[in-house]
Amino acid sequence: MQKFLLVVLVAFGCFTLTRAQNLQSPSAFLGYDIGTQFSRHHQVIDYFESVAEAVPYNVKVEQYGTTNERRALVLAYISSEENIENLETIRENNLKNTGLLEGEPTNTDVAIVWLSYNVHGNEASSSEAAMLTLYKLLTERKDLLKNTVVIIDPGINPDGRDRYVNWYNETKSTPYDIDQQASEHNEPWPGGRPNHYLFDLNRDWAWATQIETQERLKVYNQWMPHIHVDFHEQGPNEPYYFAPAAEPFHEIISDWQRDFQTQIGQNHVKYFDAEGWLFFTRERFDLFYPSYGDTYPTYMGAIGMTYEQGGHGMSGLGILNDEGHVLTLVERLTHHTVTGLSTVEIASKNAKQLNTEFAKFFDNSNLKYKSYVVKGNQDKLNSLKSLLSKHDIKFENANNGKVSGYDYATGKQGTMSVDANSLVIHTNQPKGKMVKVLFEPNAKLNDSLTYDITAWSVPYAYGLDAIASTSKVSSSKTYEGKMPTVLSEAYGYVSKWNSLKDAQFLADLLKHDFRVRFTEKPFSSNGENFDRGSLIITKGDNKHLEDFFGTLNQIKQKYEQHLTQINSGFSQTTPDIGSPDIKLVNKQKVAVLYGEGTSSLSYGEIWHFFEQQLHYPLTSINTDDLSGTNLNKYNVLIIPNGYYGSVLNENNLQKINDWVQAGGKVIAIDGALRSFAGKDGFSLKYKSSDNYSSNDNLTPYAEREREYTNNLITGAIFKTKIDNTHPMAFGYSKDYFTLKLGSSTYDLLDSGYNVGHLADTKVYSGFAGKDALANLGNTLVFGEERKGSGSFIYFVDNTLFRSFWENGKLFLVNSVFFVNNNAYEL
Ligand SMILES: [Zn+2]
Repeated sequence: MQKFLLVVLVAFGCFTLTRAQNLQSPSAFLGYDIGTQFSRHHQVIDYFESVAEAVPYNVKVEQYGTTNERRALVLAYISSEENIENLETIRENNLKNTGLLEGEPTNTDVAIVWLSYNVHGNEASSSEAAMLTLYKLLTERKDLLKNTVVIIDPGINPDGRDRYVNWYNETKSTPYDIDQQASEHNEPWPGGRPNHYLFDLNRDWAWATQIETQERLKVYNQWMPHIHVDFHEQGPNEPYYFAPAAEPFHEIISDWQRDFQTQIGQNHVKYFDAEGWLFFTRERFDLFYPSYGDTYPTYMGAIGMTYEQGGHGMSGLGILNDEGHVLTLVERLTHHTVTGLSTVEIASKNAKQLNTEFAKFFDNSNLKYKSYVVKGNQDKLNSLKSLLSKHDIKFENANNGKVSGYDYATGKQGTMSVDANSLVIHTNQPKGKMVKVLFEPNAKLNDSLTYDITAWSVPYAYGLDAIASTSKVSSSKTYEGKMPTVLSEAYGYVSKWNSLKDAQFLADLLKHDFRVRFTEKPFSSNGENFDRGSLIITKGDNKHLEDFFGTLNQIKQKYEQHLTQINSGFSQTTPDIGSPDIKLVNKQKVAVLYGEGTSSLSYGEIWHFFEQQLHYPLTSINTDDLSGTNLNKYNVLIIPNGYYGSVLNENNLQKINDWVQAGGKVIAIDGALRSFAGKDGFSLKYKSSDNYSSNDNLTPYAEREREYTNNLITGAIFKTKIDNTHPMAFGYSKDYFTLKLGSSTYDLLDSGYNVGHLADTKVYSGFAGKDALANLGNTLVFGEERKGSGSFIYFVDNTLFRSFWENGKLFLVNSVFFVNNNAYEL
């Protein structure tokens, strides 16, 4: 047997040797010199597959997902023949080394390096670099593969990349024009940066709201690489940025992680210095917000880094930058190839130590908080569980009793009673540091000059009560709630209204032509109390349906809704079901502004919310077409965050006003409020700021940037007082924690409903500059202003921001379906 195998191997060896000669360079495969054209995503994938075919013993390619536009998400595993044969063992050994898999690793000598390219679609040099890096690893740097598994994701965001590349290819001159003003250097809205739903995938790692992230995390968490690099591009006037990163660093980042990213950076310096290339380090890109391609891997134990090449969407194949240098795609991809290879090189040199230090990261016995305990609405708990599962974070159920510790609701020490429905998340588990990052009430910020939001604590985001306990809270294995039972025939049914699930249930009923009522006043029937917003579905209202009972049962099961049966239209406490306070929900026709002027991110959040979360139709109207649009076809017009100077000109404003007077509803989000604030006939007013101190004029030049942070709120959590008798706030309690994203402030409405306002300015989590804070007291958060038969509804804080603030989403649904329900029906 042994001999036979040997013969086969020798024969196979010759065969593979000739096959290896089929290994083509990217240029040979593509038919043009790499960097002289942009390659479309499928060409990049084709190249990777051709390489895997040519050298299957060194490269394995697998598809791990499909994007919204049906493009392939692909990973390549590149290593020595021996390692590729043992790939599964290497993966398991790595997980055993961290405690994520039971058992002792048999070997921990192999470094695992994961290189992610092109997360921002229009930072397009990087997928080109991915091809060249693959080729060089298999030719010039094969030595590195002996003890390293390199995982390459050539394109994290294929839909964005192809949006950019297709636009560029159809726009560019031949030969390319280096003039910055040429059309090929000016991408149209929305640009190639985001994915299909216009989400920034480099803000989505922790929340995993997008399909690309969800699919990637499944593989990422099975592998848990030691090093992760996210390749980006910055403006064409900046040369190159690599590790070490800028402050602030999150406090869980270990000394080893700090040191080793410096070592990696030093290795790049060697290559850049040899060529005389410019670069910078330690500035601008910090390690704090957990949803980036550098921080997320870092909080999962890796050395997570961002590399930024000068270039970006405006640079095309070549551009004359402000320093008089013609920056070419060839140059850009060459730099990214050098840093990629240099990263693998240093990993290979330090493979053993990487493994040892990696393992240490997963010891979480010394974290201050031992357990986080959360309780509240079951749907909200379920959606939190689903988030935790995406990161392989373990949770259990609490045992009956009381827990004490930091109380999120008050921001002080407190006590909370818990039962088997409450969740307990312990920090002494392999993913304990990520638990801390996601849950801790207030992440320690050692420098307020950060690139992003400074607060995200998930109990606030999910609208759950929570205690952080410094001692381990007793818990049992997760208990699965019972599926709701099948309905029996009755006069009608009532469903509570508290969560996105409830809203999805309503949307599905409306899609199936159900006539559904909601109550504007609390009532009790059949011994149960129902709050404002509860949905009422009666047999009598739905005689037009062919199979009322069967369909209702089906939809109810789908959304796991608990429906209470009522046997009469008479209620124990009023209103009765036929009362004018119990209103039919109108099947609203909803439109949203799209295009030039809107923030593509905000538009994308709304689009994604309606299409992928609420599952309710939404019509997008291009801002260019607004003047010619017949608004009378819609009940609701959502205006995303944006800059509407020219879009909402006098004519269009008048048009919108007239439509609202006649019964339309405008929902204006964040920056969109600027179009109405202070205008004639609007109660919405900016709050004047009078905290500008004369000393500001004397702040030295070098300190201006830092001084500026006094005026900043980039994302901090505040407690908002809610008028939950107003339909916009049905399903909420009196307190709501809001993520405030900016320091624009509006006075309370003189004539209108102040549905949410900041009564005080205590910062529950995150950073807020002192001048910004001084102006924040008694300001509007959510409001409604009536005009004629219609309404303007104001969201000062964007509750759909990156789609992760789960508890804010119902405000939007309420605004669409419940607010000013007297407005005309189409
Ligand atoms: Zn980028």
